[in-house]
Amino acid sequence: MSVMAVQKEQIVEHVKNHVVDGHIGEDFECLNCGYNLRTLAVEGDCPECGMGVKVSLRKDLLRDASPAWLMMIVRGLKLLRLGVILAFPMLYIGVVVGTVGFFHLLQKQSGREEPTKDRNLRLAAQGLLSIGAMGFIGVMVSIGWAVFAMERGMFTEVPYFDVLFLGVHAVYLLGVLLAWRNVRVLGERIPDDKLINGCKRVTWEWIGAAGGILGIGLLANIGNVIYTQYGHYNWLYAPVLMGFVCLILLWLWWRTVKFCGIVIESVGEVIRP
Ligand SMILES: [Zn+2]
Repeated sequence: MSVMAVQKEQIVEHVKNHVVDGHIGEDFECLNCGYNLRTLAVEGDCPECGMGVKVSLRKDLLRDASPAWLMMIVRGLKLLRLGVILAFPMLYIGVVVGTVGFFHLLQKQSGREEPTKDRNLRLAAQGLLSIGAMGFIGVMVSIGWAVFAMERGMFTEVPYFDVLFLGVHAVYLLGVLLAWRNVRVLGERIPDDKLINGCKRVTWEWIGAAGGILGIGLLANIGNVIYTQYGHYNWLYAPVLMGFVCLILLWLWWRTVKFCGIVIESVGEVIRP
C-alpha cells in the first residue's frame, strides 16, 4: 500500500459520520435490499440479505481487489481514452475502441459481493453499449444504402434514417451515462473525492451536450419550416448551426479526454506498489 493511498484515505460523502466505534450510528440503507443497517457492526452482514455491511459503506476497497482485475480496469481506461481521442478524427473507429474500453471497465470483479443495483446498472450499461455499437454499424450500412437508393431514384426521402440515427445515439448515450456511474462506484471504493466529483461532472457534461445538440436540431427544424412556409432562407443558417454542434462536440471531447486522465491517475495509484 503506497503512502499516497494512505494520505488519500477520506470518507466518501454519503457515508460521512455514519460510523461510530465500528458501528453504524445513523439510519443507513443496505445497498442491496434497503434494510436499515443502523446499530450494526461495520464488519457484519446485513441480516436481511446477507451482504456485507462494508459493501454498503463502499469500504470493500479497490486496493483489496485482485491485481489482475485492477490491471484490466486500467487497461480499459487507457483504451477508453484512446477511443475518445480517436473519435475526433476518426469518429466511429474511435467509438469502437472506446466501447472495447468500456467493456473492460464493466467486467465483474470475481468474488466481490455486488449490490443488486450496482449489478443491474452495470449489466444495463453493457447491454445499451452493445445495442448502440451494433446500431452504429446499422447507421453506416443505412448511409450506404440510402446513397445507393437515391442514386437510382428509388426514394426521395429516407425518414427512417433520422429515427435510426437518433435512436442509436440515444441508446449509446444512456449506456455511457451508466458506465460513468460504474466508474463513480470505483471512485467511492478508493475512496477519491476528486474522482467521484469528476464522475458527477462528466455525467452532467454529457447530458448538457446532448441537450445542446438537440436544441440546435430543433432550431434547424424551425429554420426549415420558415424556409418552406415563407421561402426565405439565409444560407448562413446551416453552417452557423453546424458550427455550434462542432463546438459542443469539441468541448465534450476535450472534457472527456481530461476526465479519462483523472480516472487513469486515480485508479493507477491504487495498483502502484
Ligand atoms: Zn441487505
